[in-house]
Amino acid sequence: MPAFDLLASSPLATSLCALLLGLLVGSFLNVVIHRLPIMMNADWRKQAREYLKLEEETPGPVYNLMVPRSACPQCGHRISAVENIPIVSYLWLRGRCSGCQAHIPRRYPLVELACGLLSAFIAWHFGATWQGAAMSLLTWGLLAMSMIDVDHQLLPDTLVLPLLWLGLIVNALGLFVPLADALWGAVAGYLSLWLVFWVFRLLTGKEGMGYGDFKLLSLIGAWGGWQVLPLTILLSSAVGAVLGTLMLRARGASHAAPIPFGPYLAVAGWIALIWGDEITTSYLQLAGFGQ
Ligand SMILES: [Zn+2]
Repeated sequence: MPAFDLLASSPLATSLCALLLGLLVGSFLNVVIHRLPIMMNADWRKQAREYLKLEEETPGPVYNLMVPRSACPQCGHRISAVENIPIVSYLWLRGRCSGCQAHIPRRYPLVELACGLLSAFIAWHFGATWQGAAMSLLTWGLLAMSMIDVDHQLLPDTLVLPLLWLGLIVNALGLFVPLADALWGAVAGYLSLWLVFWVFRLLTGKEGMGYGDFKLLSLIGAWGGWQVLPLTILLSSAVGAVLGTLMLRARGASHAAPIPFGPYLAVAGWIALIWGDEITTSYLQLAGFGQ
């Protein structure tokens, strides 16, 4: 395909295409972030009622990632295709519903923008390669699960586990690290946080994080191998300390307010996957080990 070759040979063109794709994916991620927790909740209710041998609830209207079409939560105005163009529609509508003028949360265009820019960056960094495609998928997944964790202190297995498997699969195909490193990365990622969790719990009687965090670090190990784990943990603690302090200042929230650890792990793991080697090398050089 000459058109594809031409596109792939220009980093700028590749990044622009990735930006547009990323904006569209970001729009879909907004749906996932909003609806997946509601779907999980309905599922848990159903299972709980079955287990308790309670009568089944009368089923409501179909609700999944595709159905029903998006609508304004204030007035029920159906969002048309023209009103659903990432970022552009938000700016065009000046951030208000065309039916009732209710404010559209700024988060929607911001998630779209973040997804677009991250996708463009991945395309720039990896080019039009299988690595780039795989990293884009991972980035989209991490973005969605981070936002769900922020909203609900929950990392959905339906997102984390398939991406964990995908990490092992892409490395079985030789994309990033040897398969053995990826396998031990997945094992060590889970066990290290599991260990921290239980030591912390035995010492303080409190639970510092959730099982979702273990699985997320396992996922990062599956993609980058066990080598990325120390840097990921280090970075996530640093990012957590900085952002946590900023959020406490901004919101004046009490120290006991739950701050999910998942987004920090996701950001740190993502950085470690992309620049892990460079960061470790320059750190060792700074520390005088690099000769
Ligand atoms: Zn409305």
